[in-house]
Parts: sequence; structure tokens; C-alpha cells
Amino acid sequence: MPHLPPPSTLPPGSIVDTYVRDSGGPRQDASTDQQLAEIQTYCQQHGLTLRNKYVDVAKSGGSTVTRDDFNKLIDATRHLEDRPHGILLWNYARFARDLDDAIYYKALLRNRNIIIHSLTDPIPEGQYGRIIEFFIDISNEEKRRQTSTDAKRGLRDLVLKHGCVPGTPPIGFKRQPVEIGTRRDGSPHIANRWIPDPDVIPRIKRAFEMRAAGSTLSQIHTQTHIFGSLNSYKTFFANKIFIGILEFGDLIIENYCDPIIDINTWNIVQKIIQDYAHARTSERHPKRLASPYLLSGLVYCGFCGAPMSGATTTREHITSNRDESYRCSRAKRKAGCSASRVPRHALENAVIATLREQILLPDSLAAMLEVERHSTDHSETKRKERLSILEDEKKKLSTQIANTTNAIAIRSGSQALIDKLTDLEAKRAVILAEYNELVKTRYQATPAMNQEEISEASRILTEDLLGGKLPVEAMRPILQSFINKVVVKKEEKQFVGSLDYFLPPLADLLRPPDEPPPFDSAPTETIMSPKRPVPVGAPLYRRHFQHPILFKKKSRSF
Ligand SMILES: [Zn+2]
Repeated sequence: MPHLPPPSTLPPGSIVDTYVRDSGGPRQDASTDQQLAEIQTYCQQHGLTLRNKYVDVAKSGGSTVTRDDFNKLIDATRHLEDRPHGILLWNYARFARDLDDAIYYKALLRNRNIIIHSLTDPIPEGQYGRIIEFFIDISNEEKRRQTSTDAKRGLRDLVLKHGCVPGTPPIGFKRQPVEIGTRRDGSPHIANRWIPDPDVIPRIKRAFEMRAAGSTLSQIHTQTHIFGSLNSYKTFFANKIFIGILEFGDLIIENYCDPIIDINTWNIVQKIIQDYAHARTSERHPKRLASPYLLSGLVYCGFCGAPMSGATTTREHITSNRDESYRCSRAKRKAGCSASRVPRHALENAVIATLREQILLPDSLAAMLEVERHSTDHSETKRKERLSILEDEKKKLSTQIANTTNAIAIRSGSQALIDKLTDLEAKRAVILAEYNELVKTRYQATPAMNQEEISEASRILTEDLLGGKLPVEAMRPILQSFINKVVVKKEEKQFVGSLDYFLPPLADLLRPPDEPPPFDSAPTETIMSPKRPVPVGAPLYRRHFQHPILFKKKSRSF
């Protein structure tokens, strides 16, 4: 099958990752191996460099939480230096079938400036592409709903007409065979009803009573031994069959059997489960995990250099007992680093305090501005010098090429001359490439500012923007616009590190309000992780500055 060519934004030479998934069902049109093989061929045809392959096998696309490689992919693109130019997909249904997730993660990746390209969903480039993609997402959502409905249709009759349920009954119930008709060969067709098991019921009642009274799962387990392991109690307490209601797929049969648990005890237990579930989802889902850390994507381990990311742990699943810290990703994987956690608030407070009390004061800003202006001038001078050298070279080569061409016309067929010409043209191509590159490059001169303007910019930065008036979501892009990285490690009883930063966009801060906002805002407003401003021209354009940071676990807040 011919695949859709890559968009113009993914020219040959681009680095791409791919994500493939199969759903394990019989309907899939191509296995992950087939998808990968085709994607590999596709990359060769279009000159794309295939770097990482993320594969999730036999998992439903419904929720991202269990999709290990998908989560790896999202995680691996958090840092600018790790990002591919694009991500290739077999189709959008393979990406995420849940509408919200698909939209969320696509927006997230686009905010990270990564192009998402499906080999089989025809989507035009530009504005309308997003709209069509949105409709594809909706139809995938519908497909998913449909598939699960189809699969259950046959079983519905069994449950509705006969009260029979396939599979193993839950604990506390046993199977009772029922003859529901005759098969074609005349033999009786037997199915099973679930009926309460009097041998187990007392222990189940005891478990619910204990749960309602606030006992922990391990206390309940010690007393009742209903299951072999603690893990199995997770879904047990939410099964409505204990109050007589059978739930099967989307079917609900009230009064399926006599209730084992009274409704009052049941309600108390459900409330407890809900509270725990809430505390857990708000902590575990990647969407939530990504959001509250002010320095997300900026912190690196002072021992091994690996990125550190925000890690929230909740003891006993109680919200008030949270531990929030930045953790070395290598230490987290136990992959050769043993760096301790760095407490989130202490680090964030130290960074903000260092910025407000040292780095962003008018005097420091003025000094940075001077250094920056000098280095920009220097780069611009170098660029002009190089350009004039290249221009001379170009002229010389053009003359030589013209002469050689004439010579070939006179002494036709001279292999030596033809070789010479080829050689000259190749040289000119190299020179031209560098010349064009340099013409496009602009070392934007940093505008000069007087003392008053610098003081005003300093006030805006330290008070309006970083003075604690803005929410984390608003502060993060501001920090990302001029902090390159924060390196931190624990030494003895304190934390030490350094702040690596650029000159903040001072002139932009002083723009009148009707002009575009000073900081790059992301193309879609839903997500964090805004574009980090890309330095114009060569990386040497933005001067790095460094400042030490030092703090203890309990630090004052800003
Ligand atoms: Zn480390």
C-alpha cells in the first residue's frame, strides 16, 4: 500500500521516532511487526533517520496508564535535546483511541515542536489539518465503543434471559448449573447462575464491617484471609453483587440475588474507596504528574548529569501526606546513580530567591546586557568578515568555471578539463551552502537600555512575574525563557548547585501592552510546556551565565 509522503516540515535527514501498537484483537489490519517493517521502508524511501521505536503489544488503547512504551515516548520528549523532529504513526487510532487523550498528547507533542505524521490517515498540512484530525479522533472513539459493544452482544442474551454469567464467579459466590435449552445435537445446553456461597459469606460480612470501621487492607487480610494476597482486595469492595446487583458489561441487573451487605455499610465503604481512588489518580496519571512542578524540564542531577523530574509519592494514599521532590531519572531507574531526592519546595524557593535577590537585580542585569551586547557585536563582526571571504571565493570560482567551460568548448572531450570542471562546481556548491546559511543568520543586536529601563525591567521580573503573584503554570514559561538549567545535588546536610541562565528578554518586558506578549505562548492554550525560545543563528548567540545556589531542606518561602 502506498503511504502518505511526509509533510514538508519533515525533509530528508530528519530524525524520527515511531510509536506502534496493536490492540490484541482480531480486527487489526497490521501487526506491530508489520507496522514497524513498513515504517522502516518508509523512512528509507524518504531519507528519514529512524531513531527510537516504541512498541506496545496487545493492550487496549482505551487508557494510557498501562501503555508502557507510550508513556516512555511522552517522557523521552520532555527535554529539548532528546526530542526527535517527528513521530511516525501507522494511523491515529494506534496513537490513542480515547478522544481526550489523543487531543491532549498531540497538543503536548506539538508544543514540544514535534511533528506527528500518520502513514495512513490523509490529513492536509496547515490549518485545516487539525480539524480533519479532530474528526478522525472522534471516529476512532466511536469505533472503540462499537467494538466493545459487538463483543458483548451474544452474552447479553444469556445474562438477560437466564441470569447466567460466563466465567468464574467472584469470591462469595458459586456456580449453579441451569439448563437453558437444547443444543442442535439434542444435548442439553447448560449455563451457570451465580449464587451466594454460605461457607464464605460470614467472612465477607466481616471484611466489609472492618473496612467501614477504617481498618486497613492488611488488617482485614490477617483476620479474614478471603484472598491469597493483598492485591486481590482492590476490586473486591466495589463489586455491587454484594448488594444484589449484577453488573455485566453495560448491563445492570438489580435484585440478581439477596444482598449480603446492608446498604449503609456498603455506602461507607464506597466513600472510603472513592477517596483513595481520587488521591491515587490525581497522583498517578501522567497528565497530573506533569503539571505542578515549577522547574519541570530544567533540573539536572549534580552527580551524574541526568535530568531530574518531579516525583510525588503519597503515603497510605492520603492526600495530606505527600512527598514532593525532584528525582534523578537515573537514580530512579537504579541505573548507576544514587543521588538523593531534592525536596521540591526547598529547591523552587532557592531558585526563585536567587533570581530575585541576585541575578535579576538592576546591576546584574546591566552587567549581563553589556556582555551580551559585546558578544553579539563580536559574532556579527565575524559573520560579516566570513561573508566577504566567501563572496571573494564565489567570484573566483565562477571565473574559473567560466574559463574551464570555454576551454572545454575549444578542446572538446578533454577528460582532464571535464574533471576539473566537476571539481570546481563541487567546491562552489559547498561555498554557496555556507554563504546562504550565513546570509540567513542574523545575530540580532541586543538593544541598549538606560538605567531607568533596566530598573523597570528588573522590577517587572522580580515583583510582577516572580514575586509569587502568578500561578505555577504562568511562572514556568517565564523561567524557561531564560533559565538553561538548574544543576543540584545533596552534599552533607545541604543542597548545592548552580543556575545556568541567559539574559532575560528585557526589551520585550517593556513593550506597551497592545503589542504581542513578551513571552512565547504555546500555539494551543491547553497545555503547559511552552516552546522554549530557540536562539537565532548559531548556539553561541545566547551567552550563558552561571550563579551558585545553596539551600537546606527547610528553606524560607518566596
Ligand atoms: Zn543522578
